[in-house]
Amino acid sequence: MPGDFLEYSCSCGLHSKVSSGFSLADIGRPPTCIAYDPKKKRIRVMDEADVEARGLIKVADPYDSLVYQTPKFIMMTCPACGQETMKCFHTGWWD
Ligand SMILES: [Zn+2]
Repeated sequence: MPGDFLEYSCSCGLHSKVSSGFSLADIGRPPTCIAYDPKKKRIRVMDEADVEARGLIKVADPYDSLVYQTPKFIMMTCPACGQETMKCFHTGWWD
């Protein structure tokens, strides 16, 4: 399953690199999603069941639905500070 290389960056100091779309569900592992981990203070790919059990904030991959357009960055709500000041950069694809 191919995915995007993403970089989330906010003026509050949050900075995370994520490889989205990465899923081991195809080989029988639990499904994953992108979420903010307040303990590690970063956005990362986590087990979806763990995210729901801990009530963590899921973070979207805004490039997931943009197949041919890749704007330099997309503004998003930051899960750490709650402001609309987080930029999500698309830095490439993996497959
Ligand atoms: Zn922030």
